[in-house]
Amino acid sequence: MNWLPLLHRSNDVKFIIFGGGQVAQRKVQTLIKFTSAITVVSPRLDSRLQAFADKGQILHINALAQQDHVYAGSRIVAATDDAQVNQQIAQWAKRLACPISIADDPENSDFIFPAIIDRNPVMIAISSASESPALTRYLRNQLDAALSSRIPQLARFVSALRKTIRTSIDDTQQRQQLWRKLMSSAMPNLVLAGKEDQAKAICDEVIANQDHNGEVFLVGAGPGDPELLTLKAVRLIQQADVVFYDRLVSPAILEYCNSKAEMHYVGKAKADHAVPQDDINQLLADHAKLGKTVLRLKGGDPFIFGRGGEEIELLAEQQVPFQVVPGITAASGCSSYAGIPLTHRDYAQSVRFVTGHLKDGTADLPWQELIHPQQTLVIYMGLTGIRHISQELIAHGMSTDTPIALIEKGTQPEQAVYTSTLAEIGNVIANNKISAPTLTIIGDVVSLHKKLSWLK
Ligand code: SAH
Repeated sequence: MNWLPLLHRSNDVKFIIFGGGQVAQRKVQTLIKFTSAITVVSPRLDSRLQAFADKGQILHINALAQQDHVYAGSRIVAATDDAQVNQQIAQWAKRLACPISIADDPENSDFIFPAIIDRNPVMIAISSASESPALTRYLRNQLDAALSSRIPQLARFVSALRKTIRTSIDDTQQRQQLWRKLMSSAMPNLVLAGKEDQAKAICDEVIANQDHNGEVFLVGAGPGDPELLTLKAVRLIQQADVVFYDRLVSPAILEYCNSKAEMHYVGKAKADHAVPQDDINQLLADHAKLGKTVLRLKGGDPFIFGRGGEEIELLAEQQVPFQVVPGITAASGCSSYAGIPLTHRDYAQSVRFVTGHLKDGTADLPWQELIHPQQTLVIYMGLTGIRHISQELIAHGMSTDTPIALIEKGTQPEQAVYTSTLAEIGNVIANNKISAPTLTIIGDVVSLHKKLSWLK
């Protein structure tokens, strides 16, 4: 990355702007909010620049650019409409080691101007490294519309609260935890709604009820695409002090965790139980008892083939508070992203989720029930057992040409969908390098994939 965003103290920074047209005017418009030491060098001034000059907000030097306009310790903006003149100014600036920004020439500039959203004291600067001003403007407008105009009030409220908390609580970790609780309470919204008295009451309550008990959040991370996280999942993920996550949780989702959170990988690749299940259950309880906010992050939905039930059973027994957040299960995510509706009036009136996990090389499944007509079967953890499963289904009477789909890494950028028939699926697996996680869908709905597949 070539551009380092830093915030500079602005009141004593001196700017010399060369040029008096629209570009110079836009730069001055930005700078004038931050510094009063602005000199504009140009024989002509845009009417708005002239107005600034008339009001004494900028110093106007009515001349063509000359070397002695540049002086050490200043910052230069070359915004004349002549590229050669701008280059000349850049040479003068370099000689005196003055940082320079050249209009339309980020390559030779030392700094560039971001788009700014100003909610003083909150400042958001957006840049696309000059690659796409249209994108920057678009993002600026989106964010600007989404951010309340009362953020300055919230900033003042939080800043006052910070002083109180600093003087009353010494322990840094305890303070951080309290802040997470405060910021996830109704306080911010109440302040933004202008109800500061109610917000104060909430803060008093949160501060008074600071039990040092931790809590466990059992959260479903969905099948991979971070946009499939629920709003609640994102909120709780951001709050956690300690995170225990599985192999199925995609790295893009882990990015949402607080950068200070303690991260623990607890495995769950097949035959690679990095941490045995009983130990995971106990670890969650132990960390919560230390007063931590613990996140147990699991792929898909924690209550669907996720052993989520076992993990909170122990918490319930040991009276550790917990919350469960559902996630989009692989069946939903993969079927949507593969264009295979799990039910359809013409093809399937029911859907059945089964685990294809093998015990001693065979799957112990209620075969007779699985071959029920007009039913979609979704098989979790089935890749190694899929040949065995399709043979059993055929042996119990399912038609050999029943459509079947394997969805590899569903909803993720590498998603791949293989379709075949029960009779042929063994060959498909043998002839392709298909890797986990893979979900299997069996039934007539699979024939819709060709028509409804939408992911490019
Ligand atoms: N709790 C999870 C399932 C855990 S079992 C959920 O609700 O989705 C693990 C199995 O889920 C994998 O073996 C695979 O069959 C399936 N699976 C999970 N994520 C998947 C994905 N992104 N693509 C395909 N299959 C997936």
